[in-house]
Amino acid sequence: MGGFFGTISKSACATDLFYGTDYNSHLGTRRGGMATYDKENGFTRSIHNLESSYFRTKFEASLPKFVGNAGIGIISDTDAQPIVINSHLGKFAIVTVAKINNIDELEKDLLAVNMHFSELSSGKTNQTELVALLITQGKDFVEGIENVYNRIKGSCSMLLLTEDGIIAARDKWGRTPIVIGKKDGAYAATSESSSLPNLGYEIEKFVGPGEIIRLRADELEQMRKPNEGMQVCSFLWVYYGFPVSSYEGKNVEEVRFACGYKMGQKDHSEVDCACGIPDSGVGMALGYAEGKGVPYHRAIAKYTPTWPRSFTPANQELRSLVAKMKLIPNRSMLEGKRILFCDDSIVRGTQLRDNVKILYDYGAKEVHMRIACPPLIYGCPFIGFTSSKSDLELITRRIIKELEGDENKNLDKYATTDSPEYKKMVSIIAERFGLSSLKFNTLETLIEAIGLPKCKVCTHCFDGSSHF
Ligand code: SF4
Repeated sequence: MGGFFGTISKSACATDLFYGTDYNSHLGTRRGGMATYDKENGFTRSIHNLESSYFRTKFEASLPKFVGNAGIGIISDTDAQPIVINSHLGKFAIVTVAKINNIDELEKDLLAVNMHFSELSSGKTNQTELVALLITQGKDFVEGIENVYNRIKGSCSMLLLTEDGIIAARDKWGRTPIVIGKKDGAYAATSESSSLPNLGYEIEKFVGPGEIIRLRADELEQMRKPNEGMQVCSFLWVYYGFPVSSYEGKNVEEVRFACGYKMGQKDHSEVDCACGIPDSGVGMALGYAEGKGVPYHRAIAKYTPTWPRSFTPANQELRSLVAKMKLIPNRSMLEGKRILFCDDSIVRGTQLRDNVKILYDYGAKEVHMRIACPPLIYGCPFIGFTSSKSDLELITRRIIKELEGDENKNLDKYATTDSPEYKKMVSIIAERFGLSSLKFNTLETLIEAIGLPKCKVCTHCFDGSSHF
């Protein structure tokens, strides 16, 4: 997905920018970048590859060169950013959290009107540069950003560092978030509100879908009102978000806890304890334990110092290796126990297969699994949650193909909780991984835990409900 941070201050911004951007590191692992603006020195920009190293390690030494009171930074899961360009709107730097499905078509259109692309280092068109070019087609920034909203298929939130402040523009459906923080003499805009507290910012506002806000050191200016409709990604709460973060005023840890609590209250399985698969399963397991009235135990721990997220490596072998190496079982807590594990989701099942086997190897008597969301039936066309090119990477679709002979058949039936098709699919997953029992959360409980109306939340990967 990716995450960004921008800040504008009455004093030098580099330290806040550096740490604020770093606090988005859980959202991406490909490229990191920062740009600052200073009236005398203009724009300073730097981009590093993060595939084998961390943002802080890469940027720390060059921090003194980032002069100025305003800057933007990005942890990108896709292209190299920020892009800095000069245009009839003035010079500006831009970072995006975006997934653009019609990039080829847009590229063709732009070339046809004599525009050109210069960032071709990865062999593909840089989608942030494409967004910048779409913006420059407008007579002003608002018209340019609306051009992006109207023409891209997918999603795009962005920060623009201009010669007059930072412009924060959230995706028109609000699939990805932007939150604004404030402290004395400075404003910040970021994907994750967890970037704010340690830098002294308080949450000032959650930017609405399609809303455009200009930040100056001492004021916010609304340049475009938010749209009525919203489809904020429900997976932010289930998986992506850092526990301390909030979107639309709803805290990630609270939502995870509520998901688990509600499941625990209704669950009649007999287990000795609940345990969370780190990181995103922990909040849910704490809630489950409390809802069910069983102790929370840490029977599996994540080796946190070095392992990043597991689905990021493009190649399946490497993904499996990372999945296996980062979680370490604790024999002392497993032996002879009936353990219930909570996890955020089951995508391909690679990780689950390895985890369950090792739990039995280390003495667990029974291994039960509870999942925070419903089964993932549809690929994500909006934020690139599943990096897969084919829906068949989803374990659900592979099973549907086995049962129906066609992975696209009767999807609505498999997406309906407790339908015969749903039950069959879940029992096959449980059997295949040797689970004593497996239950997925219902969509209703997930929505209840998030606390927003269903119509405001994207649940497409569970029920195929969004049109695109
Ligand atoms: S399809 Fe799923 S992962 Fe993608 S934006 Fe919607 S809820 Fe989020």
